[in-house]
Amino acid sequence: MRCPFCGHLEDKVVDSRESREGDSIRRRRECLSCARRFTSYERVEEVPLVILKKDGRREPFDRQKLMKGLLLACQKRPVSLARIEDLVGDIQARLMERPDREIRSRELGELIMDELKGLDQVAYVRFASVYRDFKDLPDFVRALEGLMHKEAAGGSDPPPRVKPSAPVTEPSTAVARALFPTEAESTAKRTRRK
Ligand SMILES: [Zn+2]
Repeated sequence: MRCPFCGHLEDKVVDSRESREGDSIRRRRECLSCARRFTSYERVEEVPLVILKKDGRREPFDRQKLMKGLLLACQKRPVSLARIEDLVGDIQARLMERPDREIRSRELGELIMDELKGLDQVAYVRFASVYRDFKDLPDFVRALEGLMHKEAAGGSDPPPRVKPSAPVTEPSTAVARALFPTEAESTAKRTRRK
């Protein structure tokens, strides 16, 4: 490390200790040229989680937005806040495990659905039904808000908005099939819509 006094590049570490919080290490160094002492700090680089959106842009993963989305999906469902918080924690942990800390929005949606499926079927279907147009988290939250509004207005209408053509043998499979057209198909659809 370059000596701040004389600019020499070699030094020896004379003392090394971890901070009380354990988030950094402080090292006392002595310059091998001028023998003066200086301090350096070493800390873990915090790599943010990044979502790669369909349009190729990146946005930082926002825990609050995910929480909001899941709260909406679980609205009026027998799912406790603590369970939702756990789920957000699990999703975040799974993202942190990824070496690149980056995830495609589509993949993130699948991951969320995967977790949600085991939690509450209605919440899962609500999520799944807005997932097709899911571009990023704010977009998803807006879509869910729209859906919940419709649900409230429609009274007893069931929430699922599954394609009629989808076989209804097993609900979650049908939903999954309706929601995960191949990338080529969905691109074609988007193009046609324009
Ligand atoms: Zn020096």
